[in-house]
Amino acid sequence: MNCKTCGVQTKEIATKTTGRGANGQTKCHRLECGHAWHATTPTVGALTDDGITPTSCGCGEIVIVNELLVAGRRLALAKEGIDEAFQGWSKQVLEALDGIPAESGTPSLVRSATTAAKSSMSDTPKKVAALNALLVRAIAAVS
Ligand SMILES: [Zn+2]
Ligand SMILES: [Zn+2]
Repeated sequence: MNCKTCGVQTKEIATKTTGRGANGQTKCHRLECGHAWHATTPTVGALTDDGITPTSCGCGEIVIVNELLVAGRRLALAKEGIDEAFQGWSKQVLEALDGIPAESGTPSLVRSATTAAKSSMSDTPKKVAALNALLVRAIAAVS
């Protein structure tokens, strides 16, 4: 799906049906960049095209994780000041991941994130990448 904010084609992390109406079915497309869009697939014979234009997502269960993922993507591209920004961002990530279940048989997301954030083996860009990956898993887990 094309992300209207990023203007590029991005992979979907998850899709969730959020509504069904006379004009068709609305799905929440949760993209890898951290943005999410609602798009309605019109039912055959529906007279309106309006539903085809994606609208911005407002799903409560992913809004915080999405914002953190967007910030994390920015952090991954930043050249300066990432160490300072990482401090605040990673703290919020740990709070957001707390309580989100991981796939069965894997350590909890917050535990993996804590380990990744504290690792003395990796530098800040690697930690950002690790936490971004965990945010992606979190979005998939709650979808
Ligand atoms: Zn995007
Ligand atoms: Zn949504």
